Amino acid sequence: MRKIADWGNYPVIEADVSGFDTTAQLQQKLEQPGEVIAFGNGRSYGDASLQNKILLTRRFNKLLSFDDATGELCCQAGVLLSEILEVFVPRGWFLPVTPGTKLITIGGAIAADVHGKNHHVDGSFGQHIRSMDIMRNDGSVVTCSPTQNADFFKVTIGGMGLSGIILNATFRLKKIESAYIRQETTRAANLDEIMDGFEASNDWTYSVAWIDCLAKGDALGRSVLMRGEHATETDLVEQLHKNARFKIKKGLPLGIPINFPDFALNPLSMKAFNFAYYNKTRPGTHQDIVNYNSFFYPLDAIADWNRIYGKRGFTQYQFVIPKEAGREGMRTILKRITESGLGSFLAVLKLFGEQDSFMSFPMAGYTLALDFPISVKAMALFKELDAMVADYGGRLYLAKDSRMDAAMFEKTYPNADEFRQVIAMLNEGSTRFASLQSKRIGITG
Ligand SMILES: Cc1cc2nc3c(=O)[nH]c(=O)nc-3n(C[C@H](O)[C@H](O)[C@H](O)COP(=O)(O)OP(=O)(O)OC[C@H]3O[C@@H](n4cnc5c(N)ncnc54)[C@H](O)[C@@H]3O)c2cc1C
Repeated sequence: MRKIADWGNYPVIEADVSGFDTTAQLQQKLEQPGEVIAFGNGRSYGDASLQNKILLTRRFNKLLSFDDATGELCCQAGVLLSEILEVFVPRGWFLPVTPGTKLITIGGAIAADVHGKNHHVDGSFGQHIRSMDIMRNDGSVVTCSPTQNADFFKVTIGGMGLSGIILNATFRLKKIESAYIRQETTRAANLDEIMDGFEASNDWTYSVAWIDCLAKGDALGRSVLMRGEHATETDLVEQLHKNARFKIKKGLPLGIPINFPDFALNPLSMKAFNFAYYNKTRPGTHQDIVNYNSFFYPLDAIADWNRIYGKRGFTQYQFVIPKEAGREGMRTILKRITESGLGSFLAVLKLFGEQDSFMSFPMAGYTLALDFPISVKAMALFKELDAMVADYGGRLYLAKDSRMDAAMFEKTYPNADEFRQVIAMLNEGSTRFASLQSKRIGITG
């Protein structure tokens, strides 16, 4: 038994934790009866990969095949996105979709069906999976794809590890001409301006905004819009970049050695931490060439930044509301959040494109995400926010959740009931896939 938590350090539990190197070893582990869940790299924020018995997938991390003509890669599910980038960026390939951290596994990317800054153009990660092998609770292996065992494929994408252990997956990388991003940053004075900015960004592959949650009144929603494209050879006017198109300087991540003591965690220290990011941006519109790490993964540069929230831990409240409810809905919810003063200084805003999948989080609309240290007041606020999100026809992201109740899940995920039935059927037998989250929100008993 050992202590284990996901990224928010809430909850922290004692669990029987073990890994596997081969499918035979995994089969043996699944022969033991009881409940079990896969754990990728623990970058979900809450309890989605927590359970009394946890199977770590990180040692199952081989690259299996690559087709240089099409970019088709097959790898085991414990491979990190960062490991793929390290091997393939120098060869001119990039991930089709990436979240705001590269320290997640392929299994975690599929199980949460993660989204990136290009959702409006390229959809979520699951939409790029051509096929995968999954080990079921009885140790059998199912190969599935959008056309083969399609129902099983459908419930596994965004299925939070409840249909089985993803063993490997095949998907296509996309061709790039450099390791750099042509980035444009623009300040927006308020929510209307930033939403106009998103509406006008359909031609950009990547777009995201950081909202300053201290701004109130007419300045509510004051933000920085960041848009980007993979830099082409001609974009790289500076000789320095041209000579080494696929090389970027490696910096050691700056570490946070210990948990911040709780007394260090006050609104000021937390806000100062976020403030540094926001104020890097100068007023007006600016074009820069930046390396892919600074564009996609600014937080990865600070190792273990989650420790800044101290022992009590934190959670991220991420919701999406449909586009029709967008302006009014976002204004109402954001106003409530900024009035509370409980969340992080920065919130991340993004406009999703259409999504047609069974259990995935995205829907055409606006998504907002921000961190909250765990507190009684924050928990009460979340209840209020949940009601607003549900009324606007939105939902919460399971990968960030540690506290939603079963009623909220049921109300906001249209396929919740069918998903529960399918998982119950797949879980028949003495070994069952279940997480603390799946029990809390009523997917598994
Ligand atoms: C700084 C930061 C930024 C983030 N930004 C984004 C973002 O922009 N967009 C976004 O979508 N997400 C984002 N996330 C969330 C993160 O991408 C997801 O939570 C992802 O699922 C984490 O993957 P993991 O490998 O760490 O898996 P874990 O957190 O360990 O597990 C997540 C889920 O995947 C399941 N799982 C893991 N491996 C397997 C497997 N082999 N087979 C079956 N199930 C499996 C687990 O059971 C669990 O349900 C961010 C997280 C952090 C910390």
